[in-house]
Amino acid sequence: MDMDYQVLAELLFPNIVETVDEIEARFPARQLPEGAVVSRMAPSPTGFVHLGNLVQGTISERMCHQSGGVLFLRVEDTDAKREVPGAVEVLIDTLKHYGIQFDEGATHDGDNGIYGPYRQRQRAGIYHVYAKKLVCEGKAYPCFCTEEELNAMREQQEAAKENFGYYGKYAIWRDRSLADIREKLDAGMPWVLRFRSTGSIENQFKFDDLVKGKLTITENNIDHVLLKSDGIPTYHFAHAVDDHLMHTTHVVRGDEWMATLPFHIQLFKALGFKLPKYVHIGPLMKMDGASKRKLSKRKDPELALTYYKAEGFPIAAVREYIMTILNSNFEDWRRANPDANIDDFKFSAKKLNPAGSLFDYAKLIDVSKNVISRMDAQEVYTLLVEWAAEFDADFAARLESDPDYAKSILAIGRGGKKPRKDMATWKEAKPYMGFFYDAYLEKPVFDEKFEKSVVREALNRFLEQFSIADDAAVWFEKVKAITTEMGFTTDMKAYKADPSAFPGTVADISTFIRQAVTGKTNSPDLYTVMQVLGYDRTVQRIRATIESL
Ligand code: GLU
Repeated sequence: MDMDYQVLAELLFPNIVETVDEIEARFPARQLPEGAVVSRMAPSPTGFVHLGNLVQGTISERMCHQSGGVLFLRVEDTDAKREVPGAVEVLIDTLKHYGIQFDEGATHDGDNGIYGPYRQRQRAGIYHVYAKKLVCEGKAYPCFCTEEELNAMREQQEAAKENFGYYGKYAIWRDRSLADIREKLDAGMPWVLRFRSTGSIENQFKFDDLVKGKLTITENNIDHVLLKSDGIPTYHFAHAVDDHLMHTTHVVRGDEWMATLPFHIQLFKALGFKLPKYVHIGPLMKMDGASKRKLSKRKDPELALTYYKAEGFPIAAVREYIMTILNSNFEDWRRANPDANIDDFKFSAKKLNPAGSLFDYAKLIDVSKNVISRMDAQEVYTLLVEWAAEFDADFAARLESDPDYAKSILAIGRGGKKPRKDMATWKEAKPYMGFFYDAYLEKPVFDEKFEKSVVREALNRFLEQFSIADDAAVWFEKVKAITTEMGFTTDMKAYKADPSAFPGTVADISTFIRQAVTGKTNSPDLYTVMQVLGYDRTVQRIRATIESL
């Protein structure tokens, strides 16, 4: 075909005067040690930040920072229709909240780094320079197909059971004359820029993905869109240009992009760019009955990162959990190094499950309980107050009204070899420890098996002997003494052998006292609870219970 591509390029991009060489000079090679990984998070600002973002971010972050490389944030805002105002800020804040620190990229106050702009809509001029170059080389062309024409084409392909897309005989603008193009342009018709694919679905080639392993890939034969009619690039074109100019060495992204990977490989080659390494991560899955399925935005609230904050999972727990599902050897490492910084763990992208990680709520709870159990009372206090300030102001006010009291409560069972594992989330703190505050104390409901007079007697006897100065052993001896004085037994074996021989056991007597003091049948160690409550509060609660009986 007789077409002067140079003329076409001028026709399409009359205002682009910059050359590729000039652009390249603005994005010099990075000076980094051998083997340093340069990667990025490239989220679209839709306002919804999900666990998948954090998983991808964690993988990129670890790969970069473990190798002495650079992690940057690029905002992929090419789809203006999906953009939510303020979403970029939410995104940056949320990622920061979870400890993803960028070395470079978009920030609240603009760009940080020399490889910007880091928001794609601000890079339109850059993409156009490369687009113009492709047109000059005959590797891209304008297409004036209307929405209707494309729909009709699709229907035709469906009817003929052919592959969908703009290729072969369907690529009707691929070889059009300059005159035809000029006519449309003169008439002010909108156009998109398409890639002129030279691939064939008859050809395959080998490709190595860092997660998926060795793959056999079929060439792309579709003339995909590079620039949309508003001049904004598609993801594909922006990916190639940006990751080239920003010197990305590793692209970590969801495996939904595998389908267009053949095109991306082709595009990098057409542009003369070195192909980065790809780390295609599987989706987050969960068990639904006996089968696995992808986590869904609609069905699974735990996909949204806001969920973890509202539930009160500590940040450290979420990070620890993510590492647990990403690298199966993490748990063993953690057991061997309970106090080590999580970043000392050697993360390996090779250990990622190619099929995707399995999200397991029970595991998250377990990890979180462990994380909280390793914290000291001061840390728990600080994080709990921070959470409560946002989600339970009344509770926050009570905690803050007497920090020492709150910390002495939170210190129960902490430290030592086997710390208590009561809480998985800050939301569980109030049900666990609320009874220490009169406002949250519930009225006890005693087992109807026992006469009220019996409960009253046990409580009265306890009050007569109670001393806050007793140690735990003396305290318990007194409870046992009350037990036998009332005809109950301390001999659990004897009771089991013949329950009808006794009105009850030492456990029942303890429960009466526990319920009077805590309102509940379950609580941390009762002796310790009384020590924390102090003499006056303890006595006052038992008296109030006796009166209410
Ligand atoms: N904006 C793309 C997305 O949100 C980024 C994929 C990539 O990391 O290249 O899926």
